[in-house]
Amino acid sequence: MDTPIDLHCHSTASDGILDPKDLVKRAFSNGCTTLALTDHDCIDGLVEANNTAIQYGMKFISGIEISVTWNSKTLHIVGLDIDETNNDMINVLSNLRKGRIERAIQISDELSKVGIEGAFEGASKYCKNIDMISRTHFARFLVENDYVNNIENVFEHYLVEGKVGYVPHNWISLKEAINLIIEANGIPIIAHPARYKLDDDKLNSLIKEFIKYGGLAIESISGRHTIEENQKFIEFAKKYNLYVSAGSDFHQPSSDPYREVGKTLSIPSDVESVLAII
Ligand code: AMP
Ligand code: MN
Ligand code: MN
Ligand code: MN
Repeated sequence: MDTPIDLHCHSTASDGILDPKDLVKRAFSNGCTTLALTDHDCIDGLVEANNTAIQYGMKFISGIEISVTWNSKTLHIVGLDIDETNNDMINVLSNLRKGRIERAIQISDELSKVGIEGAFEGASKYCKNIDMISRTHFARFLVENDYVNNIENVFEHYLVEGKVGYVPHNWISLKEAINLIIEANGIPIIAHPARYKLDDDKLNSLIKEFIKYGGLAIESISGRHTIEENQKFIEFAKKYNLYVSAGSDFHQPSSDPYREVGKTLSIPSDVESVLAII
């Protein structure tokens, strides 16, 4: 069953293709009544998205998706209902984004070693601000220039561990990200937990650590999960008494219906929705 809430999506402020205004309009036309914008490491889209949501009579929640390094792996921690004027949040995110530029130059150097020239300039054409350059922008460059036939295939053969163009990167720690969100009066949430390919032992230790630092919720329902993965993480939420969040992780129109903004599956009634504490 579709639900009118979507608590995870991206705009041109990070690696989405719609500007915040068009993103909110699209969510509205899909029947969405409660929307959170959660751009990667960037809060620049929130004011425009909020203003547009007000025009459409939608409830808008200010969000963020922070890049974290945990045991040498990249994880994403969503913060919902944050105070986007919080100075620590603004400064830490700004530093995180500076690291993106350095990493992008290294990615470009790696790609040039296999004959793919001009990737930094090429990828930067797809992003609004150079400090938000991401692997998605490199993926768009590789597809548009016929190096790879689609985005999914980019992330199979390039830019990921063990493949051409992969550059390891140190984001902030799990503890720092959770503290930052809590200090900005937000709710820390483990984003799309199935994406990290962690075995159950590692998942249990991640969740325990997350809770120890003040983490409160888990995005059991994600447009980037299979139905079975959603169910698995509903069970984890029950086991650890975590609130449950749900989001499409929309970046651009796709053939996958659950990745469409505002078309997330609903949160089952036998768990607590994160909206209960927003
Ligand atoms: P970055 O934060 O620059 O490392 O880029 C990560 C982004 O790449 C994610 O937020 C996704 O938008 C995108 N991404 C990663 N893996 C995949 C994948 N398998 N398919 C599509 N997009 C992906
Ligand atoms: Mn992304
Ligand atoms: Mn993510
Ligand atoms: Mn996301």
